[in-house]
Amino acid sequence: MSGWLAVAGLGPGDENMVTPEVRAVLAEATDVIGYFPYVARVAPRDGLILHGSDNRVEIDRADHALRLASEGAKVVIVSSGDPGVFAMASALFEALEKQPALYDLDIRILPGITAMLAAAAHAGAPLGHDFCAINLSDNLKPWDLVEHRLRLAAQADFAMGFYNPRSASRPHQFARALEILREECGGDRLITFARAVTTPDERIVTVTLAEATPEMADMRTVVLVGNSATRRVGRFVYTPRSA
Ligand code: SAH
Repeated sequence: MSGWLAVAGLGPGDENMVTPEVRAVLAEATDVIGYFPYVARVAPRDGLILHGSDNRVEIDRADHALRLASEGAKVVIVSSGDPGVFAMASALFEALEKQPALYDLDIRILPGITAMLAAAAHAGAPLGHDFCAINLSDNLKPWDLVEHRLRLAAQADFAMGFYNPRSASRPHQFARALEILREECGGDRLITFARAVTTPDERIVTVTLAEATPEMADMRTVVLVGNSATRRVGRFVYTPRSA
């Protein structure tokens, strides 16, 4: 088999945040597979086939990539941010698990800058000590589990990053998440809404939980909640290393 498969993170948006490793693998690829808007970030060239697909067809996409690579193609599956953070790397292994004949295929996962870390950098250092990341979407897991993890993370005094906070199809869940956070953390806790980070539309707003409204988040927003020691310093937000 001469084909290979890379699962690559394109970073949060800015082309300067695509790693040289990812750039190099894209330059060698014969096929790029992924959700339409991510594939659109790859420049077309001779000899490269771009396969854009709809959202929520991750396993089909992974099967397609495995098939092409096993037939000799040089395939890159693209994700935004990091491919291992609520993205295609896990979906790929889920598909691979069912195909032992392909276990020896040349597969590489290439990390990228995830939204939470790009957002934290532009806000200051809100994740400067222990933190966790929670996907607020219940597309793939029950909402009860989301609430359970949220509550326990807040009780453990983690700083938190929330992906997929709110979409048109699930408008009420983020409101519920804010309620839980207010119950567990109180109204004074700092919350940062970081939208379209590293793109021309970037907007970063920090308020208290008491001031936060569900409308402050959408699907292009990653939400950061500080721990009990997180505070403002000038225009920045940071979490001390001792807390
Ligand atoms: N693999 C991606 C996450 C995919 S889930 C990563 O590592 O970043 C999609 C969610 O990521 C969005 O709903 C949003 O919460 C977050 N996100 C992705 N890009 C973003 C950006 N540029 N600014 C803010 N949030 C972003």
